[in-house]
Order: sequence, then structure tokens, then C-alpha cells
Amino acid sequence: MVKKIILATPRGFCAGVDRAIAIVEKALNKYGAPIYVRHEVVHNRYVVDDLKARGAIFIEEIKDVPANSILIYSAHGVPLAVRKEAKHKNLKMIFDATCPLVSKVHVEIKNLHRDGYTIVMIGHKGHPEVEGTMGQVTGDIFLIERLEDVANLPISKDINKIAVVTQTTLSVDETKSIIQELKLTFQNLKLPKNEDICYATQNRQDAVKALTKKCEMLLVIGSKNSSNSNRLKELAENLGIKAYLIDYANEICQEWIDGVEVVGVTAGASAPEILVTGVIERLGQYGFNTIENLTSVEEKMIFALPSELRE
Ligand code: SF4
Repeated sequence: MVKKIILATPRGFCAGVDRAIAIVEKALNKYGAPIYVRHEVVHNRYVVDDLKARGAIFIEEIKDVPANSILIYSAHGVPLAVRKEAKHKNLKMIFDATCPLVSKVHVEIKNLHRDGYTIVMIGHKGHPEVEGTMGQVTGDIFLIERLEDVANLPISKDINKIAVVTQTTLSVDETKSIIQELKLTFQNLKLPKNEDICYATQNRQDAVKALTKKCEMLLVIGSKNSSNSNRLKELAENLGIKAYLIDYANEICQEWIDGVEVVGVTAGASAPEILVTGVIERLGQYGFNTIENLTSVEEKMIFALPSELRE
């Protein structure tokens, strides 16, 4: 039996993650350590440990940033209150590594609030992106996570001005069904002008859908707190194949691959390609020596760096 690996393309870093990591790296190179970063700049253990080793200090509270330091906001975005608090500290510089696609949702939500809309956000409670997005406005904003939550919203069904926004890294299919339920409940529901779920989330999920038709088991490389990586694992499971979320190749268990001939491999938007290489090497030790690529779409998106950090 020929044991085969099929790699999903696209996988791994998206344009927002590329930009966020580059901001921290370039700030370290230009200004030297330490550089303070509010929250993990992206949700990946390898990336965070690597940046820590190079002098980045990750904090959750602005009060933990000493005066005269350089501060960077993570790719997930921050509530307005955090920006305000940081502005009142005597900091040398602040760089914003919020993904431009998250910032787009921030603008959308502020405009809706200004125009008197009650806003429903679909997202995961406690995720920093959700906290950042909801923190752009005060009052008249409600978070829902599941289809069942729609019925429990404390909002009149006849409301005139109601709009929905979503976290950028959700399950495309699940979000569609929640929005459908919202439309049935609130006839005046205003939908986002463009999808809030980002291109990278959509593309990685499409790639996994195609891959699950060709493999018996899927390895998703990504950290446990990575929203988009978790969605890739769930998607494969919903399509009926076993899937495992791993940070590193040494987490692969013999029993996962016993009797398996074709393993699919993908990586969440915050997982670097070096981890994929490690997984390929490890699977090679188990006899998976044939490697194929399954490309569903080519990605060309690039986001510009802040002017101070451009070369
Ligand atoms: S997953 Fe999407 S929203 Fe998140 S950083 Fe990447 S491009 Fe931006």
C-alpha cells in the first residue's frame, strides 16, 4: 500500500497574520527589545515563543506596559477603551497590527451604531476579536454564538433598525444558517455590505472541503486558541472524517494513522509553514513518502505595513 500525504492549498499564514508578525519583527529590528504586544499577536504557540525569545513581551493589560515603551496591538484588534487607556500613558510609540479586515468590521459597526441600528454580532464569547469589535460601541449590541441563541435575543421582532455582523474566522456554513434564522426572525435585518468572514477563512475551509473527499484523516496544524484552525477541524469532522488539531509534529499518535493510507494536512491562518514541514517529516517516518498538493485557489492578498516600518 502506498501511503500518501495530500497538502491543502491555501493553508497557513494569511495576509493579516503575515503583516502582524512583520510589524513585531520589524519593530524589534528597528527599535530593539523589549517591544510590548497586547495579547498574543496571532494565536500560534510557535510564533509567540519565537517572538518572546527575540524580545517581545506579551501582556493583556495596558497597565503592565511601562512608560516610554513601544506597544503593538495584536491582529485581533482592541476595544476603544484599550486605545484610550494606552493614549493616556506616556508611551514612545504605538503600532496597530489589527488585521485590516477586522478594522473593516470595526468601521462597519461604528457606522451602524451612529445610524441608530441595534447590532447582533455572531462570534465566540471571550475571543479577543469579538471583544475588540463589540468594544467599538457602547450599548445596543448583542452577541450570539449558535442558532439556538437567536430565539433568546431580547429584541422586538418588529424592530426597524437591526443589523448583523460576524467574527472574521467562523464556520462559513454555520454562520449562513444563523443569518438565515435571523432573517426569518427579524424581517428588517440589514446584512453586511460584504461578507465579514474573511477571504482566508473562506479559502482554507473550501480547501478542507475538497481535501476531505480524498483523504481518510486530516491533521490541522494550529494552536488550541486559534479560532480558524478549530473551524477547519470541526468542518472535517462534520464531513465525516477524523481530524486532529496539533501544534507540533511530535503530537501525532501512532493510533491516529494505523490503517490510514491517505492523510490530509492543512494549517490554520496563524500557523507557519515550518510546522507543516515538520509534520511531513514525521509522517515520512511512518512511511508516508508520497506527497501531493490539492490547490483550490491561489491567494495574492498582501496588506501594507505602517509607514515607519517599511524598508
Ligand atoms: S484570518 Fe482573516 S481576519 Fe484574521 S488575520 Fe487572517 S485575513 Fe485577517
